[in-house]
Amino acid sequence: MSKFLVSACLAGFPCRYDGKAKTDPEVVKLVKQGLAIPICPEQIGGLPTPRPAAELVGQRILSATGEDFTENFVRGAQETLRLAQEFGCTKAILKSGSPSCGFGQIYDGTFSGKMTAGMGITARLLWENGFEVESR
Ligand code: SF4
Repeated sequence: MSKFLVSACLAGFPCRYDGKAKTDPEVVKLVKQGLAIPICPEQIGGLPTPRPAAELVGQRILSATGEDFTENFVRGAQETLRLAQEFGCTKAILKSGSPSCGFGQIYDGTFSGKMTAGMGITARLLWENGFEVESR
């Protein structure tokens, strides 16, 4: 059976920007069964928890006050891809809406809670490298 790369916040890790998790019992079960590897791209990209909320604004990842986290997000995406491939993952289950993990719909860059069609930096890199991506 193929292995999943999963957003660590879905697996119960309190790694979100606000220091909370977004636990999904099915994802936790996959991890406990040894079928999924939990990773937080923003943490392995070098960002602390908690951290400022950020959104994709054009080609950059910015906070509401204009801090630029693009470099951390790109590094986190590359490291996530590297680890996922090393662990033999071919599928990903990722947290919706996130500028890293969002797939299909992400926040629109206006910090108003509105969504738009798009992909987070990590979701896009995994998808471009042939991963089957599911959004939760
Ligand atoms: Fe969850 Fe992904 Fe955000 Fe990390 S970067 S908190 S795994 S949505």
